[in-house]
This record gives sequence, C-alpha cells and structure tokens, in this order.
Amino acid sequence: MSLLKIVRFPSPFLRQPTQEVKVIDKQVRTLVEDMMETMCDVNGAGLAAIQVGSLHRIFIIEALAAGGERTESPKVFINPVLEDLSPETDVRDEGCLSFPGVFISVKRSLRLKVSALDLDGKPFSIDAEDFFARAIQHEHDHLINKLLYDHAGPIKRQMIKRKLDKMTDEEAMDLLRQHPES
Ligand SMILES: [Zn+2]
Repeated sequence: MSLLKIVRFPSPFLRQPTQEVKVIDKQVRTLVEDMMETMCDVNGAGLAAIQVGSLHRIFIIEALAAGGERTESPKVFINPVLEDLSPETDVRDEGCLSFPGVFISVKRSLRLKVSALDLDGKPFSIDAEDFFARAIQHEHDHLINKLLYDHAGPIKRQMIKRKLDKMTDEEAMDLLRQHPES
C-alpha cells in the first residue's frame, strides 16, 4: 500500500468528469487500498478517488462515520447512485481533504438511500441518515465535480482562494493532520 497525494483546490483536476468503473480489477483494488491508507493518515471521514488523481466513480467513508466500528475497514462505494434524498435538511460545517483548514456551512438532506457496488462487484443499498448521509452527499458531490467552494458565498470564496493559492504541501498536511475532516 502507499500514501497518495491529495489533490487540492484550485487544481482543475477536481473539475474533470468522472468515469464509471467497468471492471473491478487489481488496479481498482489497489487504488481503494491506497485511498484507505491515505484517508487514515489524515484522519479523514471520507475520500473520493478524484481527490487522489483517479477519475473512477469511487468514494470511501470511514467506518465510524458509516455507522460501523472503529476497527472496521472504511465502507467502499463504487459507481454510487443517490436516491430518495429527504426534503428535511440541516446545515452544518463541513471540511474537505482538498480544502485544508477550510470549513463551510452546507445544507444537506438528513436521509437518503445509496446504491453502489462493493469491492467484489456485488450491488448493495443502504439507507443512511445524519452524519453518514451528509458524508455520502459530500463525497458524491466530488463525483459530479461539485466542491465545498461552490457552497460558499462570494466573500468566503475569495478567502478560500487566497488561502489555498499559496498553500504549500507541508502547510496542507499540517492543517489536515490537526483536524478530522471529510
Ligand atoms: Zn471533499
């Protein structure tokens, strides 16, 4: 396994169209293992493949955030589809591994259903709520090229740009290791 470099805003790569995973082969399994190691290294709650330089439609959510035990592996979602997003919403601060040190209030549905493939290519569906549902919506946003930045107002956007334009890799890693983020 190896640690992958996390792509940071304003890299144009984060706006590249993502692609459906056609075959879950060794390359995809290695990518997912490396994503898990990379997310774990910075205590992230979730990570999408596009954030580590792959256009595959894949994201992972940390086990506790996904309603499991801390010792379990992160939950893997391949070619995920969201349905039944509840009209009930709430607003909370979100972070993102591609936006070190940035937190933005985002309105999200409280509940949803997600269908995806697991690492064995087996389809599954989950009803998620609260933080899990929020994390799924955040990671799914990455697959449709929607970013935390897009949820910010004009003044906050300027602040984010200024902060991230000149951020070094070292500063970014320090900030990420200080805060658990998604
Ligand atoms: Zn993110």
